[in-house]
Amino acid sequence: MDKWKVGVVGAGTIGRSVAQDLAYRGCSVILKDQTEAILDESKKAMARDHKFFQLCDPKLRSVKMEDILPRILFTTTYSGFGELDLVIENVVENFDVKKSVYHDLDQVCRDHTIYAVNTSCISITKIGSAVTHPQNVIGMHFMNPVPQVPLVELVKGYHTSKTTIQYVREFLSACEKKTVLVNDFPGFVTNRVLMLMINECIFLVQDQVAEPEEIDAIFKWGFSHKMGPLATADLIGLDTILQSLEVLWESYHDPKYRPSPYLKRLVYAGHLGRKTGQGFFKY
Ligand code: NAD
Repeated sequence: MDKWKVGVVGAGTIGRSVAQDLAYRGCSVILKDQTEAILDESKKAMARDHKFFQLCDPKLRSVKMEDILPRILFTTTYSGFGELDLVIENVVENFDVKKSVYHDLDQVCRDHTIYAVNTSCISITKIGSAVTHPQNVIGMHFMNPVPQVPLVELVKGYHTSKTTIQYVREFLSACEKKTVLVNDFPGFVTNRVLMLMINECIFLVQDQVAEPEEIDAIFKWGFSHKMGPLATADLIGLDTILQSLEVLWESYHDPKYRPSPYLKRLVYAGHLGRKTGQGFFKY
């Protein structure tokens, strides 16, 4: 895995999980976020998550975080990005913010650098319009927590080239990930379905049909889901869920994607799920 040196932009919930997984697999990672404070928090979260991953994965039991962390360069600049072949972008689910990041990357990266967009719902073709070489842009949708989820949903934008697809497939296979390639339409396969299900479960709480514990129990015990939809929402982050539903609503103008007012209320109150210690459940 020494051959893979990867840039990861955004060290939030999913970006740090991507960086941690790549480091476990032996990649060398440059992890960029906006401030040292965010990077410090992300480093601490990786150490916390490592203990949990060790409990679940026997292969990690003898792995020490001190041996993994040096594979990640934590930085607030794009220094070093000019030598990379692959950048995985994980900044907030907002097109304007992502666009400004791609503008910066376009200035520093090489003509052939591949941009893998980790987005829940935003069109890969639209992201491609923000760079000089849209054939190098592909959706690389990871699921949280990345070290524990084998699937990566790959999304082919209008201009995505065969070379780009082949490169990322080879890379992800070296990372022992399973890939499914789908065409670009907002929300792709996963989140057109998952966001609807989560939103409807939030409406059930809002309408006082059932408590979050009861809703999740129905999915776990009735449908053998490993985790209920509302615990999943807390893990993803309720702000990201709301932003994703807003992207789906703006993209399709189909009322089925209107976010539940109760979800908005929780986000305005700062209850974003695991990342703030409270969402539908307390952590
Ligand atoms: P988050 O809010 O937890 O983290 C986003 C990070 O991006 C923050 O740390 C923020 O400081 C950083 N950022 C913003 N502007 C930046 C810039 N200019 N340079 C570097 N970093 C910058 O969000 P998240 O949940 O990690 O989601 C990130 C993206 O990944 C979103 O598009 C989301 O839809 C997608 N995604 C999230 C999940 C999930 O489970 N949370 C899963 C798959 C995909």
